[in-house]
Amino acid sequence: MNKTFKNKEIWFVTGSQHLYGEQTLKQVASDSQAIVNAFNESDSIPVKTVFQPVVTTPDSIYNLCLEANNTKECIGLITWMHTFSPAKMWISGIKILQKPIAHLHTQFNRDIPWNEIDMDFMNLNQSAHGGREYGFILSRMGINRKVIVGFWKEKKIQKQLADWIRVAVGWNEMNTMKIVRFGDNMREVAVTEGDKVEAQIKLGCAVYGYGVGDLADSVNGVSEKAINSLLEEYESEYTINKELLKGGPKRPSVIEAARIELGIKQFLVDGGFKAFTTTFEDLHGLVQLPGLAVQRLMKQGYGFGAEGDWKTSAMVRAVKAMTEGLDRGTSFMEDYTYHFDPSGMKVLGAHMLEICESIAEGKPSLDVFPLGIGGKSDPARLLFDVPSGPAINVSIMDMGNRFRLLTNEVTVVPTPQDLPKLPVARVLWEPKPDLEIAAAAWIYAGGAHHTVFSQAATAEMIQDFSEMAGIEHLVIDEKTNIIDFKNTIRWNDVYYHTQPR
Ligand code: MN
Repeated sequence: MNKTFKNKEIWFVTGSQHLYGEQTLKQVASDSQAIVNAFNESDSIPVKTVFQPVVTTPDSIYNLCLEANNTKECIGLITWMHTFSPAKMWISGIKILQKPIAHLHTQFNRDIPWNEIDMDFMNLNQSAHGGREYGFILSRMGINRKVIVGFWKEKKIQKQLADWIRVAVGWNEMNTMKIVRFGDNMREVAVTEGDKVEAQIKLGCAVYGYGVGDLADSVNGVSEKAINSLLEEYESEYTINKELLKGGPKRPSVIEAARIELGIKQFLVDGGFKAFTTTFEDLHGLVQLPGLAVQRLMKQGYGFGAEGDWKTSAMVRAVKAMTEGLDRGTSFMEDYTYHFDPSGMKVLGAHMLEICESIAEGKPSLDVFPLGIGGKSDPARLLFDVPSGPAINVSIMDMGNRFRLLTNEVTVVPTPQDLPKLPVARVLWEPKPDLEIAAAAWIYAGGAHHTVFSQAATAEMIQDFSEMAGIEHLVIDEKTNIIDFKNTIRWNDVYYHTQPR
Protein backbone atom coordinates (compact mmCIF):
# COMPACT_ATOMS: atom_id res chain seq x y z
CA MET A 1 0.00 0.00 0.00
CA ASN A 2 1.18 3.48 -0.85
CA LYS A 3 1.74 5.41 2.36
CA THR A 4 1.42 9.21 2.62
CA PHE A 5 4.46 9.63 4.86
CA LYS A 6 7.34 7.79 3.22
CA ASN A 7 10.16 8.27 5.71
CA LYS A 8 8.17 7.71 8.84
CA GLU A 9 7.23 4.50 10.61
CA ILE A 10 5.25 3.39 13.60
CA TRP A 11 6.37 0.44 15.70
CA PHE A 12 3.96 -2.26 16.74
CA VAL A 13 4.95 -3.65 20.12
CA THR A 14 3.21 -6.62 21.70
CA GLY A 15 3.55 -7.34 25.39
CA SER A 16 3.47 -10.81 26.93
CA GLN A 17 5.46 -12.93 29.38
CA HIS A 18 7.27 -16.31 29.50
CA LEU A 19 4.73 -18.17 31.64
CA TYR A 20 2.58 -19.22 28.71
CA GLY A 21 5.23 -21.35 27.01
CA GLU A 22 6.69 -21.29 23.53
CA GLN A 23 3.59 -22.44 21.68
CA THR A 24 1.40 -19.62 22.98
CA LEU A 25 4.11 -17.01 22.41
CA LYS A 26 4.43 -18.19 18.79
CA GLN A 27 0.71 -17.69 18.36
CA VAL A 28 0.93 -14.23 19.97
CA ALA A 29 3.67 -13.28 17.51
CA SER A 30 1.80 -14.55 14.50
CA ASP A 31 -1.40 -12.73 15.55
CA SER A 32 0.59 -9.51 15.97
CA GLN A 33 2.17 -10.00 12.58
CA ALA A 34 -1.28 -10.43 11.06
CA ILE A 35 -2.43 -7.13 12.54
CA VAL A 36 0.72 -5.39 11.28
CA ASN A 37 0.13 -6.82 7.80
CA ALA A 38 -3.45 -5.57 7.83
CA PHE A 39 -2.33 -2.08 8.87
CA ASN A 40 0.26 -2.06 6.12
CA GLU A 41 -2.42 -2.97 3.60
CA SER A 42 -4.95 -0.50 5.00
CA ASP A 43 -5.32 2.67 2.97
CA SER A 44 -6.29 4.65 6.07
CA ILE A 45 -3.07 4.03 8.07
CA PRO A 46 -0.73 6.67 6.59
CA VAL A 47 2.68 5.23 7.57
CA LYS A 48 4.44 1.90 7.48
CA THR A 49 3.80 -0.22 10.60
CA VAL A 50 6.89 -2.11 11.71
CA PHE A 51 6.45 -5.41 13.55
CA GLN A 52 8.61 -5.78 16.64
CA PRO A 53 9.32 -9.14 18.29
CA VAL A 54 7.00 -9.86 21.23
CA VAL A 55 8.50 -8.49 24.44
CA THR A 56 8.54 -10.68 27.54
CA THR A 57 11.31 -9.29 29.78
CA PRO A 58 12.34 -5.93 31.29
CA ASP A 59 15.55 -6.00 29.24
CA SER A 60 13.82 -6.55 25.92
CA ILE A 61 11.40 -3.69 26.68
CA TYR A 62 14.21 -1.38 27.76
CA ASN A 63 16.26 -2.16 24.67
CA LEU A 64 13.30 -1.66 22.39
CA CYS A 65 12.57 1.76 23.90
CA LEU A 66 16.22 2.71 23.58
CA GLU A 67 16.16 1.73 19.93
CA ALA A 68 12.90 3.60 19.32
CA ASN A 69 14.46 6.77 20.75
CA ASN A 70 17.43 6.39 18.45
CA THR A 71 15.48 5.63 15.30
CA LYS A 72 14.71 8.87 13.51
CA GLU A 73 12.00 7.32 11.35
CA CYS A 74 10.08 5.97 14.34
CA ILE A 75 7.45 8.53 15.29
CA GLY A 76 5.65 6.48 17.90
CA LEU A 77 4.72 3.10 19.37
CA ILE A 78 1.49 1.18 19.13
CA THR A 79 1.43 -1.10 22.14
CA TRP A 80 -0.86 -4.09 22.58
CA MET A 81 -1.10 -6.55 25.44
CA HIS A 82 -2.21 -9.74 23.72
CA THR A 83 -1.83 -11.57 27.01
CA PHE A 84 -1.03 -10.49 30.52
CA SER A 85 2.33 -8.69 30.65
CA PRO A 86 3.31 -7.92 34.26
CA ALA A 87 3.83 -4.19 34.13
CA LYS A 88 6.84 -3.82 36.41
CA MET A 89 8.67 -5.14 33.34
CA TRP A 90 7.68 -1.95 31.50
CA ILE A 91 8.96 0.60 34.02
CA SER A 92 12.60 0.90 32.94
CA GLY A 93 11.72 1.14 29.24
CA ILE A 94 8.82 3.56 29.62
CA LYS A 95 10.98 5.77 31.86
CA ILE A 96 13.39 6.49 29.02
CA LEU A 97 10.97 6.39 26.08
CA GLN A 98 10.75 9.69 24.23
CA LYS A 99 8.24 8.70 21.57
CA PRO A 100 4.42 8.94 21.81
CA ILE A 101 2.47 5.83 22.78
CA ALA A 102 -0.89 4.58 21.55
CA HIS A 103 -2.30 1.76 23.62
CA LEU A 104 -4.37 -0.35 21.25
CA HIS A 105 -6.73 -2.16 23.59
CA THR A 106 -7.91 -4.79 21.15
CA GLN A 107 -8.25 -8.54 20.87
CA PHE A 108 -7.24 -10.74 17.94
CA ASN A 109 -10.71 -12.31 17.67
CA ARG A 110 -13.77 -10.10 17.69
CA ASP A 111 -16.27 -12.53 19.16
CA ILE A 112 -16.15 -15.04 21.96
CA PRO A 113 -16.43 -18.49 20.28
CA TRP A 114 -19.15 -19.66 22.61
CA ASN A 115 -19.09 -23.33 21.59
CA GLU A 116 -15.32 -23.81 21.45
CA ILE A 117 -14.01 -21.55 24.18
CA ASP A 118 -11.76 -23.38 26.65
CA MET A 119 -8.96 -22.43 29.05
CA ASP A 120 -6.33 -22.40 26.26
CA PHE A 121 -8.37 -19.76 24.50
CA MET A 122 -8.73 -17.84 27.75
CA ASN A 123 -4.97 -17.92 28.34
CA LEU A 124 -4.18 -16.72 24.84
CA ASN A 125 -6.67 -13.83 24.69
CA GLN A 126 -6.15 -11.79 27.82
CA SER A 127 -6.04 -8.20 26.66
CA ALA A 128 -9.13 -7.44 28.75
CA HIS A 129 -7.01 -7.76 31.89
CA GLY A 130 -3.51 -7.51 30.36
CA GLY A 131 -4.34 -4.05 28.99
CA ARG A 132 -5.45 -2.93 32.45
CA GLU A 133 -2.21 -4.00 34.10
CA TYR A 134 -0.24 -2.12 31.45
CA GLY A 135 -2.53 0.92 31.75
CA PHE A 136 -1.99 1.01 35.50
CA ILE A 137 1.75 1.45 35.24
CA LEU A 138 1.45 4.20 32.61
CA SER A 139 -1.07 6.04 34.79
CA ARG A 140 1.03 5.54 37.89
CA MET A 141 4.05 6.94 36.03
CA GLY A 142 2.01 9.86 34.69
CA ILE A 143 2.61 9.00 31.05
CA ASN A 144 0.36 10.70 28.50
CA ARG A 145 -0.85 8.29 25.85
CA LYS A 146 -3.82 7.50 23.62
CA VAL A 147 -6.04 4.55 24.54
CA ILE A 148 -7.99 3.12 21.63
CA VAL A 149 -10.53 0.42 22.47
CA GLY A 150 -12.16 -1.88 19.93
CA PHE A 151 -11.68 -4.56 17.32
CA TRP A 152 -8.60 -3.85 15.20
CA LYS A 153 -10.27 -4.68 11.89
CA GLU A 154 -13.04 -2.11 12.36
CA LYS A 155 -12.77 0.94 10.11
CA LYS A 156 -13.60 3.20 13.05
CA ILE A 157 -10.69 1.84 15.09
CA GLN A 158 -8.23 2.07 12.20
CA LYS A 159 -9.39 5.64 11.56
CA GLN A 160 -8.79 6.57 15.21
CA LEU A 161 -5.36 5.02 15.00
CA ALA A 162 -4.64 6.71 11.66
CA ASP A 163 -5.58 10.10 13.13
CA TRP A 164 -3.32 9.50 16.11
CA ILE A 165 -0.46 8.51 13.77
CA ARG A 166 -1.05 11.70 11.79
CA VAL A 167 -0.79 13.67 15.01
CA ALA A 168 2.48 11.88 15.81
CA VAL A 169 3.73 13.06 12.41
CA GLY A 170 2.68 16.62 13.34
CA TRP A 171 4.40 16.33 16.70
CA ASN A 172 7.56 15.03 15.04
CA GLU A 173 7.38 17.98 12.67
CA MET A 174 6.90 20.46 15.53
CA ASN A 175 9.92 18.98 17.30
CA THR A 176 12.21 19.59 14.37
CA MET A 177 10.69 22.82 13.07
CA LYS A 178 12.60 25.98 12.23
CA ILE A 179 10.46 29.11 11.98
CA VAL A 180 11.68 32.36 10.46
CA ARG A 181 10.32 35.62 11.82
CA PHE A 182 10.78 38.52 9.43
CA GLY A 183 10.77 41.62 11.58
CA ASP A 184 9.36 41.45 15.08
CA ASN A 185 5.92 41.55 16.64
CA MET A 186 3.25 44.03 15.60
CA ARG A 187 3.86 46.80 18.09
CA GLU A 188 1.74 46.64 21.25
CA VAL A 189 -0.02 43.36 20.34
CA ALA A 190 -0.01 41.01 23.33
CA VAL A 191 -1.23 37.57 22.28
CA THR A 192 1.23 37.11 19.43
CA GLU A 193 4.12 37.42 21.90
CA GLY A 194 5.42 34.53 23.92
CA ASP A 195 8.40 32.79 25.42
CA LYS A 196 10.42 31.41 22.51
CA VAL A 197 12.86 29.67 24.81
CA GLU A 198 10.04 27.86 26.58
CA ALA A 199 8.51 26.96 23.19
CA GLN A 200 11.78 25.38 22.16
CA ILE A 201 12.00 23.42 25.42
CA LYS A 202 8.36 22.34 25.41
CA LEU A 203 7.54 22.00 21.71
CA GLY A 204 10.96 21.71 20.09
CA CYS A 205 10.35 24.44 17.51
CA ALA A 206 13.00 27.12 17.09
CA VAL A 207 12.28 30.71 16.07
CA TYR A 208 14.91 32.56 14.04
CA GLY A 209 14.60 36.34 13.82
CA TYR A 210 15.72 38.07 10.62
CA GLY A 211 15.59 41.70 9.58
CA VAL A 212 13.20 42.24 6.71
CA GLY A 213 16.20 43.64 4.78
CA ASP A 214 17.61 40.10 4.61
CA LEU A 215 14.38 39.02 2.96
CA ALA A 216 14.44 42.06 0.65
CA ASP A 217 17.91 40.96 -0.55
CA SER A 218 16.52 37.54 -1.41
CA VAL A 219 13.53 39.12 -3.17
CA ASN A 220 15.75 41.49 -5.17
CA GLY A 221 17.91 38.58 -6.24
CA VAL A 222 15.08 36.83 -8.09
CA SER A 223 15.62 36.49 -11.85
CA GLU A 224 13.23 37.92 -14.45
CA LYS A 225 13.09 34.49 -16.05
CA ALA A 226 11.85 32.87 -12.84
CA ILE A 227 9.26 35.64 -12.45
CA ASN A 228 7.98 35.15 -15.99
CA SER A 229 7.52 31.45 -15.57
CA LEU A 230 5.72 31.95 -12.23
CA LEU A 231 3.42 34.50 -13.90
CA GLU A 232 2.54 31.85 -16.46
CA GLU A 233 1.71 29.50 -13.60
CA TYR A 234 -0.61 32.13 -12.11
CA GLU A 235 -2.34 32.51 -15.47
CA SER A 236 -2.95 28.79 -15.78
CA GLU A 237 -4.14 28.30 -12.20
CA TYR A 238 -6.37 31.29 -11.52
CA THR A 239 -9.07 33.42 -13.00
CA ILE A 240 -7.18 36.63 -13.52
CA ASN A 241 -8.48 40.18 -13.75
CA LYS A 242 -7.54 41.37 -17.27
CA GLU A 243 -5.82 44.44 -15.80
CA LEU A 244 -3.19 42.08 -14.40
CA LEU A 245 -2.27 40.61 -17.76
CA LYS A 246 0.66 41.74 -19.89
CA GLY A 247 0.37 45.46 -20.68
CA GLY A 248 -2.47 45.93 -18.18
CA PRO A 249 -2.36 48.75 -15.60
CA LYS A 250 -2.05 46.37 -12.63
CA ARG A 251 0.65 44.21 -14.24
CA PRO A 252 3.52 45.74 -12.19
CA SER A 253 1.78 44.74 -8.95
CA VAL A 254 1.52 41.09 -9.92
CA ILE A 255 5.13 41.06 -11.13
CA GLU A 256 6.16 42.34 -7.68
CA ALA A 257 3.98 39.70 -6.01
CA ALA A 258 5.72 36.97 -8.02
CA ARG A 259 9.12 38.39 -7.11
CA ILE A 260 8.18 38.38 -3.43
CA GLU A 261 6.90 34.80 -3.61
CA LEU A 262 10.10 33.55 -5.21
CA GLY A 263 12.24 35.55 -2.79
CA ILE A 264 10.48 34.21 0.31
CA LYS A 265 10.50 30.66 -1.06
CA GLN A 266 14.23 30.83 -1.71
CA PHE A 267 14.82 32.14 1.81
CA LEU A 268 12.74 29.32 3.33
CA VAL A 269 14.44 26.63 1.27
CA ASP A 270 17.96 27.93 1.95
CA GLY A 271 17.36 28.13 5.70
CA GLY A 272 15.39 24.88 6.05
CA PHE A 273 12.46 26.87 7.46
CA LYS A 274 9.02 25.25 7.55
CA ALA A 275 7.09 28.26 8.80
CA PHE A 276 7.38 32.05 8.73
CA THR A 277 5.84 35.29 9.90
CA THR A 278 5.60 38.78 8.43
CA THR A 279 4.46 42.08 9.88
CA PHE A 280 2.93 44.90 7.90
CA GLU A 281 4.63 47.38 10.26
CA ASP A 282 8.03 46.31 9.00
CA LEU A 283 8.23 45.95 5.24
CA HIS A 284 11.33 48.03 4.49
CA GLY A 285 12.61 47.06 1.10
CA LEU A 286 9.45 45.21 0.10
CA VAL A 287 7.15 47.00 -2.30
CA GLN A 288 3.92 45.41 -1.05
CA LEU A 289 2.69 43.30 1.85
CA PRO A 290 3.17 39.64 0.88
CA GLY A 291 -0.37 38.40 0.20
CA LEU A 292 -0.47 36.10 -2.80
CA ALA A 293 2.97 34.76 -1.82
CA VAL A 294 1.77 33.81 1.64
CA GLN A 295 -1.41 32.21 0.28
CA ARG A 296 0.54 30.08 -2.17
CA LEU A 297 3.35 29.15 0.21
CA MET A 298 0.82 28.00 2.81
CA LYS A 299 -0.72 25.80 0.13
CA GLN A 300 2.72 24.26 -0.41
CA GLY A 301 2.71 23.29 3.28
CA TYR A 302 4.49 26.18 4.99
CA GLY A 303 3.18 27.54 8.26
CA PHE A 304 2.33 31.21 8.45
CA GLY A 305 1.41 33.79 11.08
CA ALA A 306 0.79 37.47 10.42
CA GLU A 307 2.06 40.34 12.59
CA GLY A 308 4.94 38.30 13.94
CA ASP A 309 2.69 35.51 15.22
CA TRP A 310 5.24 32.68 15.36
CA LYS A 311 3.12 30.43 17.61
CA THR A 312 0.22 30.33 15.16
CA SER A 313 2.66 29.91 12.29
CA ALA A 314 4.17 26.85 13.98
CA MET A 315 0.72 25.37 14.64
CA VAL A 316 -0.39 25.99 11.04
CA ARG A 317 2.63 23.99 9.90
CA ALA A 318 2.08 21.23 12.47
CA VAL A 319 -1.58 20.82 11.46
CA LYS A 320 -0.63 20.86 7.78
CA ALA A 321 1.90 18.10 8.48
CA MET A 322 -0.77 16.03 10.28
CA THR A 323 -3.29 16.38 7.50
CA GLU A 324 -1.04 15.90 4.49
CA GLY A 325 -2.77 14.03 1.69
CA LEU A 326 -6.30 14.59 3.05
CA ASP A 327 -8.96 16.25 0.90
CA ARG A 328 -9.59 19.41 2.86
CA GLY A 329 -7.20 22.19 3.76
CA THR A 330 -5.79 24.23 6.62
CA SER A 331 -5.12 27.96 6.84
CA PHE A 332 -4.03 30.81 9.04
CA MET A 333 -7.25 32.58 10.06
CA GLU A 334 -8.66 35.46 12.04
CA ASP A 335 -12.13 36.00 13.51
CA TYR A 336 -12.95 39.18 11.64
CA THR A 337 -16.58 40.31 11.81
CA TYR A 338 -19.83 39.08 13.37
CA HIS A 339 -23.30 38.53 11.99
CA PHE A 340 -25.52 38.94 15.06
CA ASP A 341 -28.85 38.10 13.42
CA PRO A 342 -30.71 36.13 16.15
CA SER A 343 -31.98 33.65 13.56
CA GLY A 344 -28.42 32.43 12.92
CA MET A 345 -25.36 34.08 14.40
CA LYS A 346 -22.17 33.68 12.41
CA VAL A 347 -18.53 34.69 12.21
CA LEU A 348 -16.89 35.95 9.06
CA GLY A 349 -13.28 34.81 9.09
CA ALA A 350 -10.58 36.30 6.90
CA HIS A 351 -7.33 38.22 7.18
CA MET A 352 -6.01 41.27 5.43
CA LEU A 353 -4.83 38.93 2.65
CA GLU A 354 -3.24 35.80 3.99
CA ILE A 355 -5.73 32.93 3.72
CA CYS A 356 -4.39 29.64 2.39
CA GLU A 357 -5.47 28.49 -1.03
CA SER A 358 -5.82 24.90 0.29
CA ILE A 359 -9.26 25.77 1.69
CA ALA A 360 -10.57 27.32 -1.54
CA GLU A 361 -13.74 26.11 -3.17
CA GLY A 362 -13.30 26.07 -6.94
CA LYS A 363 -10.80 28.13 -8.89
CA PRO A 364 -9.56 31.19 -6.98
CA SER A 365 -9.43 34.55 -8.73
CA LEU A 366 -6.32 36.68 -8.67
CA ASP A 367 -6.61 40.44 -8.33
CA VAL A 368 -4.92 43.54 -6.98
CA PHE A 369 -6.58 46.01 -4.66
CA PRO A 370 -5.39 48.75 -2.33
CA LEU A 371 -4.80 47.78 1.31
CA GLY A 372 -6.14 50.43 3.66
CA ILE A 373 -3.34 49.84 6.18
CA GLY A 374 0.47 49.78 6.17
CA GLY A 375 1.10 52.46 3.52
CA LYS A 376 2.60 50.20 0.84
CA SER A 377 1.70 49.53 -2.81
CA ASP A 378 -1.45 47.65 -3.69
CA PRO A 379 -0.90 43.93 -3.04
CA ALA A 380 -2.02 40.97 -5.16
CA ARG A 381 -4.23 38.39 -3.53
CA LEU A 382 -6.35 35.35 -4.27
CA LEU A 383 -10.08 35.56 -3.69
CA PHE A 384 -12.27 32.58 -2.97
CA ASP A 385 -14.97 31.10 -0.78
CA VAL A 386 -14.63 27.95 1.32
CA PRO A 387 -16.69 24.75 1.08
CA SER A 388 -19.39 24.13 3.71
CA GLY A 389 -18.98 21.51 6.41
CA PRO A 390 -17.26 20.83 9.73
CA ALA A 391 -14.06 22.63 10.68
CA ILE A 392 -12.06 23.61 13.73
CA ASN A 393 -10.38 26.81 14.86
CA VAL A 394 -7.29 26.24 16.99
CA SER A 395 -5.41 28.83 18.94
CA ILE A 396 -2.22 28.65 21.00
CA MET A 397 -1.40 31.15 23.71
CA ASP A 398 1.42 31.68 26.18
CA MET A 399 -0.39 32.10 29.51
CA GLY A 400 2.79 33.07 31.36
CA ASN A 401 3.34 29.75 33.12
CA ARG A 402 2.26 27.43 30.29
CA PHE A 403 1.10 27.13 26.70
CA ARG A 404 -2.62 26.69 26.23
CA LEU A 405 -4.23 25.20 23.14
CA LEU A 406 -7.85 26.09 22.50
CA THR A 407 -10.13 24.52 19.91
CA ASN A 408 -13.62 25.48 18.79
CA GLU A 409 -15.59 23.15 16.57
CA VAL A 410 -17.46 25.14 13.92
CA THR A 411 -19.61 24.53 10.85
CA VAL A 412 -18.77 26.38 7.67
CA VAL A 413 -21.90 27.69 5.95
CA PRO A 414 -22.43 29.44 2.60
CA THR A 415 -22.65 33.23 2.64
CA PRO A 416 -26.34 34.16 2.29
CA GLN A 417 -25.48 36.70 -0.41
CA ASP A 418 -22.55 37.61 -2.64
CA LEU A 419 -19.97 39.95 -1.16
CA PRO A 420 -19.09 41.92 -4.29
CA LYS A 421 -17.10 44.63 -2.53
CA LEU A 422 -15.00 42.44 -0.20
CA PRO A 423 -11.62 41.88 -1.85
CA VAL A 424 -10.29 39.04 0.36
CA ALA A 425 -10.70 35.29 0.70
CA ARG A 426 -13.23 34.63 3.44
CA VAL A 427 -15.10 31.94 5.26
CA LEU A 428 -18.38 32.10 7.15
CA TRP A 429 -18.99 29.74 10.07
CA GLU A 430 -21.35 28.98 12.92
CA PRO A 431 -19.42 28.11 16.07
CA LYS A 432 -20.53 25.25 18.32
CA PRO A 433 -22.58 25.26 20.45
CA ASP A 434 -23.53 28.76 19.30
CA LEU A 435 -21.78 32.06 18.82
CA GLU A 436 -22.75 33.50 22.20
CA ILE A 437 -21.37 30.59 24.24
CA ALA A 438 -18.43 29.91 21.94
CA ALA A 439 -17.17 33.49 21.85
CA ALA A 440 -17.66 33.95 25.60
CA ALA A 441 -15.80 30.70 26.35
CA TRP A 442 -13.05 31.63 23.89
CA ILE A 443 -12.60 35.00 25.55
CA TYR A 444 -12.61 33.56 29.09
CA ALA A 445 -9.88 31.16 27.92
CA GLY A 446 -7.84 34.08 26.61
CA GLY A 447 -8.05 32.67 23.09
CA ALA A 448 -6.17 34.58 20.40
CA HIS A 449 -7.78 36.38 17.47
CA HIS A 450 -5.43 34.41 15.19
CA THR A 451 -6.18 30.74 14.65
CA VAL A 452 -5.37 27.68 12.66
CA PHE A 453 -8.52 26.96 10.67
CA SER A 454 -8.72 23.37 9.46
CA GLN A 455 -11.30 21.35 7.60
CA ALA A 456 -9.00 18.31 7.70
CA ALA A 457 -8.05 18.07 11.39
CA THR A 458 -10.41 17.37 14.30
CA ALA A 459 -10.63 18.49 17.92
CA GLU A 460 -9.63 14.95 18.92
CA MET A 461 -6.43 15.29 16.92
CA ILE A 462 -5.58 18.56 18.66
CA GLN A 463 -6.29 16.82 21.97
CA ASP A 464 -3.84 14.05 21.02
CA PHE A 465 -1.30 16.69 20.03
CA SER A 466 -1.65 18.41 23.42
CA GLU A 467 -1.07 15.04 25.13
CA MET A 468 2.13 14.45 23.17
CA ALA A 469 3.33 17.97 23.94
CA GLY A 470 2.19 17.83 27.56
CA ILE A 471 0.40 21.15 27.25
CA GLU A 472 -3.10 22.31 28.13
CA HIS A 473 -6.00 21.96 25.70
CA LEU A 474 -9.48 23.37 26.12
CA VAL A 475 -12.29 22.45 23.73
CA ILE A 476 -15.43 24.41 22.92
CA ASP A 477 -17.93 22.06 21.27
CA GLU A 478 -21.60 21.08 21.18
CA LYS A 479 -21.58 20.25 24.92
CA THR A 480 -19.85 23.37 26.24
CA ASN A 481 -21.54 25.38 28.94
CA ILE A 482 -19.98 28.46 30.45
CA ILE A 483 -20.06 27.52 34.13
CA ASP A 484 -18.29 24.19 33.56
CA PHE A 485 -15.87 25.78 31.13
CA LYS A 486 -14.85 28.50 33.60
CA ASN A 487 -14.39 25.89 36.29
CA THR A 488 -12.19 23.82 33.96
CA ILE A 489 -10.00 26.87 33.42
CA ARG A 490 -9.70 27.37 37.19
CA TRP A 491 -8.93 23.71 37.88
CA ASN A 492 -6.37 23.67 35.11
CA ASP A 493 -4.69 26.71 36.64
CA VAL A 494 -4.15 24.68 39.80
CA TYR A 495 -3.13 21.54 37.91
CA TYR A 496 -0.50 23.27 35.80
CA HIS A 497 0.94 24.98 38.86
CA THR A 498 1.62 21.52 40.30
CA GLN A 499 3.42 20.27 37.18
CA PRO A 500 7.21 20.26 36.98
CA ARG A 501 8.50 22.61 34.28
MN1 MN B 1 -3.98 39.60 12.27
